[in-house]
Amino acid sequence: ATVIVTGANGFIAQHCISSLLKTGYAVVGTVRTSSKIEPVKATHNSHPNLQIVVVNDITSAQCYLNAFTGLTPSAILHLAAPFHYNASNFERDLMVPAVQGSMAILAAAAEIKSVQRVVHTNSFACIYDATAGPCPEKTYTSRDWSPLTYEDGVNAPNAPTAYRASKTAAEKAAWKFVSEQKPAYDLVSLCPTMVFGPFLPGSRPKAIQHVNTSNLMVWSVVAAGKDQSVPPTKGPCWVDVRDVADAHVNALLVPEAGGGRYMLCQGVYCNQELADVSRKVTSKYAEKIPVGEPGRRESHSHFGVDASDAERVLGLKWRTLEDSLADLVPQLFEIERRQ
Ligand code: NDP
Repeated sequence: ATVIVTGANGFIAQHCISSLLKTGYAVVGTVRTSSKIEPVKATHNSHPNLQIVVVNDITSAQCYLNAFTGLTPSAILHLAAPFHYNASNFERDLMVPAVQGSMAILAAAAEIKSVQRVVHTNSFACIYDATAGPCPEKTYTSRDWSPLTYEDGVNAPNAPTAYRASKTAAEKAAWKFVSEQKPAYDLVSLCPTMVFGPFLPGSRPKAIQHVNTSNLMVWSVVAAGKDQSVPPTKGPCWVDVRDVADAHVNALLVPEAGGGRYMLCQGVYCNQELADVSRKVTSKYAEKIPVGEPGRRESHSHFGVDASDAERVLGLKWRTLEDSLADLVPQLFEIERRQ
């Protein structure tokens, strides 16, 4: 069976492609310019079951359909969407590609009769209510919804708020599309929390400024400077990228996942914990990482998370923060050393 993966050069998408190929799927990935084709192929050692096509406008269903001519995919993983905070016009740079991008792939999929399932990569941003502030008595689950609207994103006070609104509006629009249009496929929504973890060999960014937004949060802690204090926590819940990739593949393999929404989360964390764990698991770089106040934990003061429905339905077990940081943090220091 063939699976389409949009935004194939992205951090999470690369891991999804790797897991799909290992599971035996043929993969057709989309990128927005032809210069991105070869690097993605190289990451997967020019796997014979991997093809990459160019879709230069992710907000156009016709653009997708042109690129997919002759293909009979059984499923689509839609990951292409902006996750960065360097936007000057929130509507143009974040809202439109997220919302119209989702509408375009769903409309294109409705035209391709072979498609049985679309997995929509949403976010904890679609669940979390940032205005509620820290509330230790609250436990977020996949049944919660962010109150942010499209207009909130356009008029947001800052880029992180606009990003959260872009994901929320895109997910709401996707559920509305399938309930109104009743396409032949079903929808699965995956809502990962902050995704940390290593780059696949060959997909390592050439410079720190090219590292994806969530791994940059780890870098901002470990690179703060040995004698500096640990910066305040922003996340503050996380999941390993390899578990997110498994969730995408299992969302295809488990028939009863259809129509469901799943939060992907190992647990809550705080930046002091990132520093403590990184110092412990990366002895080579431990001396560079801020000491702060070892053992101090603020995680319990934020809120709780319960991702047991993803564990149950998608059969997931979460990697630990130790596993994730032991693989990621040395890579980040290597990127800095070589840039
Ligand atoms: P990356 O930035 O690594 O990848 C994003 C992908 O989307 C790239 O292929 C990028 O292409 C493409 N893309 C972004 N903006 C546009 C645009 N305007 N037009 C066309 N393509 C675009 O991010 P991640 O791998 O971290 O994120 C992948 C998905 O997962 C996103 O939907 C994100 O919102 C979601 N997510 C990520 C989380 C995380 O912590 N990383 C947490 C929750 C959800 P190009 O390289 O050409 O810009």
